[in-house]
Amino acid sequence: MRIVTSVRGMQRLARRWRRGGPRVALVPTMGYLHAGHLSLVKLARRKAGRNGRVVVSIYVNPAQFGPGEDFARYPRDLARDKKHCRAAGVDVLFVPPDREMYPDSQNEAFSTFVVEHRLSRGLEGASRPAHFKGVTTVVAKLFNIILPDLAVFGAKDFQQAAVIQQMVRDLNIPVKITVAPIVREADGLALSSRNAYLSPAERRQAVVLRQAIQLAQKKVAASRRFLPASRLRGELIRFIQRQPAARVDYVEFFDPKNLEPVRQVARGVQMALAVFLGKTRLIDNARL
Ligand code: AMP
Repeated sequence: MRIVTSVRGMQRLARRWRRGGPRVALVPTMGYLHAGHLSLVKLARRKAGRNGRVVVSIYVNPAQFGPGEDFARYPRDLARDKKHCRAAGVDVLFVPPDREMYPDSQNEAFSTFVVEHRLSRGLEGASRPAHFKGVTTVVAKLFNIILPDLAVFGAKDFQQAAVIQQMVRDLNIPVKITVAPIVREADGLALSSRNAYLSPAERRQAVVLRQAIQLAQKKVAASRRFLPASRLRGELIRFIQRQPAARVDYVEFFDPKNLEPVRQVARGVQMALAVFLGKTRLIDNARL
């Protein structure tokens, strides 16, 4: 008889018994794929290994959109996404309709949610109150449906990756999480499906998110000591709002590990911002 005391050891054993098959890597997305998504697919392929399988899921998850947000008009183009995935060597494209993901939601029989209570409070969670509850629930469902060994998320959604990592740790979900770097346009704008909403003028002004990060990085590099977060925030908001289409939702400086806001900004602090360009809300982040 074998005695197992560690969760990781027990899971490893359980998995070995269950299968000796290929490693499965999952890339969860909401579709309208761009080079940022495809960089995740490439990393998933590498991490899954030679005989591994890569699954991309496309699901515009209603549960993570708030009332008045862009769920209904979120860009969708499955034909194009299929082509991208085929060309990228994806093994399985999982595209469930709502009735598959939430069969009981019509009669309110769907009543179990996964909620992370610490890392999801601030930043996106403060601006979009039910957002992360929708994200953690759907990602937990995808993990249970696809049973991946690993999953790849993008640093573009820095807080989301942190919340998922926390969920996986807290609930002992046997999925290894990898976070891939942000892919940007030549002018620095982070690739996003929502960039498709931008008018030509808004698109030109959207580079201000990246410029604000670079300005903060420059100020941090030039300062010998700490910079007060409130002062730096004020300067960046003024800088961003010089663009006529831009309206700042938040500019935050925080500890990249626990996402707690800092009062003094120095090298190593994480910065994140959300800015409306017209009606389109864009986010970006970087280590300072
Ligand atoms: P979405 O389809 O927007 O839900 O994004 C699906 C995944 O792709 C998430 O893990 C995102 O963080 C990631 N992602 C989106 N845009 C980028 C980007 N520009 N660079 C890297 N990863 C990205």
